[in-house]
Formats: sequence, structure tokens, C-alpha cells
Amino acid sequence: MHDPDCLFCKIIAGQIPSSKVYEDEDMLVFKDIHPAAPVHLLMVPKLHIASMAQVGAEQAPLLGRMLAKAPQLALDNGCNPYPQGGFRLMVNTGEEGGQEVHHLHIHLLGGPRPWKKG
Ligand code: AMP
Ligand code: ZN
Repeated sequence: MHDPDCLFCKIIAGQIPSSKVYEDEDMLVFKDIHPAAPVHLLMVPKLHIASMAQVGAEQAPLLGRMLAKAPQLALDNGCNPYPQGGFRLMVNTGEEGGQEVHHLHIHLLGGPRPWKKG
């Protein structure tokens, strides 16, 4: 399912370029264009799901597979190892949740402090 007006669907389709770091049948992972930390990746399901507000039991396996990829993605892309290093996963949801792009995505932030935000 794709939304022709969705920025991340266009990136997934290759219509808009991105700095891809990982791809499989479930997800595309690319660098955030305005990084808020030394490592700032966006983990995006290939399926168009508008936000976390639309997620239910049906999406649990997909989200589980995405979350389970985060540790390896973090280490492969410059996050330092746990516990001195680590990373932050964040899913902004809806206007009041700070969501700007309405295609579900998991922010993966990490690297040495200080970060631009938080
Ligand atoms: P959110 O506010 O959670 O919806 O996050 C959207 C994120 O997408 C922001 O951190 C933006 O910097 C990022 N972003 C917007 N356009 C692009 C793009 N073309 N390529 C990569 N990241 C983008
Ligand atoms: Zn989309």
C-alpha cells in the first residue's frame, strides 16, 4: 500500500533520493536530512502506515522485526556500544506528538553528547 502524496513512500519508491543505510523486505532505513544527533536514522516500514496511532495487533510482527533491527543498525552506523554508548528510539505520533511526516517512522538517535535536541 502506497500513498502517492507521501514523502516517505516516494523515498521508498526511489522517486526522491535518500542516504540509505539498510533495506530489506519490511523496511528502508536512511539518514535524517536534519540530524539531531551525530547518528540520526529513520527506520521506515515499506507499507504506508500513517502513524503509530494506526498500529494494532496486525502490525505487531512488522514492528517487532523493525525494533529488533535497531541494535545492529545503531552499531553499524556509529553509535557506541551499550552501556556507555547506546541509542534512543523515538516515534512521534500526531500533531501534538510532534509528527511532521505522516508515514510511520522510528527515529534512531545516538553518538557522543551533546546532541542538538534532548
Ligand atoms: P517527524 O517529525 O517525527 O515526522 O520526523 C520527520 C523527520 O523526517 C524529520 O526529522 C526530518 O528531518 C526528516 N526528513 C524530512 N524530509 C526528509 C528527507 N527528504 N530525507 C530524510 N529525512 C527527511
Ligand atoms: Zn507513505
